[in-house]
Amino acid sequence: MINKVGIVGCGLMGAGIAQAAAQGGFETIMVDIDADLVANGRTRIDKSLAKGIDLGKLDEATRDETLARLSGSTDRNDLADCDLVIEAITEKLGAKHELFTALDKLCKPETILASNTPPPPPPARPPPPPPRDRFVGLHFFNPVPRMLLVELIRTVDTSDTTFEAAQAFGEAIGKTVIAAGDTPGFVVNRLLVPYLLDAIRALENGVATKEDIDAGMMLGCGYPMGPLALVDFVGLDTTLHVAEILFAEFKESRYAAPPLLRRMVRAGYLGRKSGRGFYEH
Ligand code: NAD
Repeated sequence: MINKVGIVGCGLMGAGIAQAAAQGGFETIMVDIDADLVANGRTRIDKSLAKGIDLGKLDEATRDETLARLSGSTDRNDLADCDLVIEAITEKLGAKHELFTALDKLCKPETILASNTPPPPPPARPPPPPPRDRFVGLHFFNPVPRMLLVELIRTVDTSDTTFEAAQAFGEAIGKTVIAAGDTPGFVVNRLLVPYLLDAIRALENGVATKEDIDAGMMLGCGYPMGPLALVDFVGLDTTLHVAEILFAEFKESRYAAPPLLRRMVRAGYLGRKSGRGFYEH
């Protein structure tokens, strides 16, 4: 039974997951490496809740209850009594492995440990974290409070008890949970990334302008956002990173990153987060 949830990493994803957990009724603690980063996470959540109120999706009482269930810390020992800990830290394999090894020692023996990260390419993959049967993937989507999906990844070692508890948690915070195998890209990125890369290839090959590619897919297919605007939102670096993971695993040309994407990432055009990607922001 999950009552208390810990989130490690108070960045874009960690803050979103912490908000969703607290809003879903769970006592939630989020941990980062320094106090400013924890405060940044808290600010992100404050802004997101305020936006929810402005849009009429949330009332002030719900905001106050959510914030009352949420705390922050720079000491990972404060995660000791959590029933579920979700890792959402920077994409560094060594740091993730060190974290899970430490969590296994400091948490209760029954604590479920989850990662929000897509798996790294096989050659760089670290050994699985120690509590193998209590480890599961919980892959959220940005912005977490608004996106209704979570992919639940069962590794070869995940126990049924762990899987079912993680599924119940996802549903309790209002998400639709889909079960995905432990393969790169899971379901969503496996299908989405080739589409995004093809849109970049179409632009690179002069098939159409970026505006027309985006308008074509929005108006022709009813998508809420065009593919190049979506790459800007996700981040060009993140898109490249995921494409490289998929290509390393499958060696299929549809996952090969187009030269234009690599050139733009090298130039620092990362999308919304850097102020410029395919569009100016
Ligand atoms: P981010 O850079 O915004 O946040 C990461 C946070 O982790 C930072 O605040 C950093 O200080 C903190 N951190 C790093 N090492 C730590 C440690 N050892 N202990 C505690 N905190 C630590 O990154 P993000 O976009 O939130 O992504 C986090 C993870 O989620 C990544 O692994 C990413 O691959 C994955 N992910 C991202 C997205 C997305 O759309 N951005 C979607 C799904 C999964």
